[in-house]
This record gives sequence, C-alpha cells and structure tokens, in this order.
Amino acid sequence: MRVQIGRVADKITGMLKIPPYGIVSVVNGTVRLDGGAMFGVVPKVLWEPLVDVDDHNRILLATRTLIAVDRVAGRVILVDTGCGTKWSKDKADRFGITTYPSAVPDALAKLGCRVEDVTDVVITHLHFDHAGGLTDWVEPGGEIVPKYPSAAHWVHRRHWEHAQRPASKDRPSFLREDFESLERARLLHFVDSEASVWVDGPFPGMSWYVSTGHTPFQIHPLFGAGDERLLFAGDLVPTSHHLRTTWVMAYDVMPLATIAEKEAIYGRCVADGISLAFPHDPSIGGVRLEGSGSRIRLGETLPLGG
Ligand SMILES: [Zn+2]
Repeated sequence: MRVQIGRVADKITGMLKIPPYGIVSVVNGTVRLDGGAMFGVVPKVLWEPLVDVDDHNRILLATRTLIAVDRVAGRVILVDTGCGTKWSKDKADRFGITTYPSAVPDALAKLGCRVEDVTDVVITHLHFDHAGGLTDWVEPGGEIVPKYPSAAHWVHRRHWEHAQRPASKDRPSFLREDFESLERARLLHFVDSEASVWVDGPFPGMSWYVSTGHTPFQIHPLFGAGDERLLFAGDLVPTSHHLRTTWVMAYDVMPLATIAEKEAIYGRCVADGISLAFPHDPSIGGVRLEGSGSRIRLGETLPLGG
C-alpha cells in the first residue's frame, strides 16, 4: 500500500536529499558508557579533551535514529531505535540513559508522516543501545509488544542467531525483551550474505555493507545510487572521534577486523563520494570524508538535523 506522505517534507530545513530519499538523523536519547571501553587501547590523555566525561569515567553518547523517506515509493525507513523506555530506574542510572520518546514521532511529523506510516526498520545489530526502542511495555513492567507492528524489521540472519546465544564477552549487550516479540509477531526479514562485503538491499537506491568486527554480521545501510550517497556507519565508527582507524572500542569482538573493515569502508567512501552517518555522536549526525587511507579526516558536516 502506498503511504500518502505530506508535502511538509519540502519545507524541512536540515534534511539531506539523496534521491530517492530525504534523510534526517534524530537524537532519540543519550547514554553514558565507560570512556575506556569506548576507546579501547587509546590512552585517556588523548580522548579526554574530546568528550564529556563524568565522575564515573563515563562519556556522553547520543543514540540516533536515521529516518529515510522515499515519498514516491511511499517508503518510510527507520535505522536503529536507541535504548527505548523499558528500563528500571537502577539500570537506567547505571548507564546514564535518557530517552526522548517524542523525538522520532516529532521528526516523522515534520516529514509529513505518522508512526503508523513506518514501512521498514533496519536493525544494524541487536545491542540494547540500538534495539531497545524496537519494543515497548503495554504498561510499565507488563507485556512487551513491537513498537512498529506493521513494519518489516531487517536484521542479518547470522546476527539474529548470535543474539540467541551470545558469547560470554558480549552477553550483557543483548536483552531478549528488546527483540523476542518481533519473532512472535512475524515481523523479521533476514539479510543473508557473507561478511565484509557490499550487497544489494531490498529497495531501489539502497544496499548494505556487512561487518563482523564490532559484533557478528552487523548491517550498514547505504542510501542513494548516484553521486550523492550516505552510509550509516553503525558501531564500526560510533562517533566522529572514532574515524581514526585504530580508535576501536574494547566492546568489539574482533578489533583487527574492525580496523580492516573501517579501511575497506573509507576506501569505498573516498572512491565513490560516500558520506558517513554516526550512531552515537552527540553533536554530529554525519560528515563528508576527506583525505585517503590512514589520512582520512572529517570534512563538511551534513545537514541531517531532524
Ligand atoms: Zn552502540
């Protein structure tokens, strides 16, 4: 069914137009994670001046949803959903979680869409800071149901399988309540491919990169097919500070693969003029890239304001 998307989108300032999509990056909340874990072996003396650090050594991170709207096809795509609202006060305090429940609905409204118009949700991976907002309590502490019950939910099959039986290292990052109701509701659509490759996506003007360094079979949507394109970096490059190939999170299951995958992505981005969108940068939704190889650097900030 084709969704009737209003003409308001024409008037939005800060929307990136990458035919056939209009794209915004919405901060749906914030989380605080240990700075040492976020920067791995990089010494604190290097990263501390760049970030907001609290008394517990936790740095401030945004959780972002990318919204891509193809008005002609009637397609409204969300990429990642943040931590969501299914948190006890104790656990929310432990991770410094703040959620803005109206952020995505408000951004959709500015684009002339409703929450019910969301046709697709791309789940880069099922860690709680990306998948928490896929589901919600019917009432606090009660039944949990999908938040976008008429949308197709895209996840890599082998990542889904890993999330059912995580390794001891990454088990705390997966919360079953974030995603098990999606399976019961038959909303899952699986991506099947090898890792560290570029593959066609399910829609015109969209493809995926599949990585394994941060977590097995993370998917990274690439929007656009012409001169202008945008890649959602996911947790391969969580913030603009992680652009350096060797600034890799201690959370990563295969740090050397992360470095190789960043190099592969940057090579493609520079060759094809692809920009990057970040999932966790508190102030920058996305950037163009300049330079090449290990000398890659931040270029112009993109107008992705939601
Ligand atoms: Zn993350």
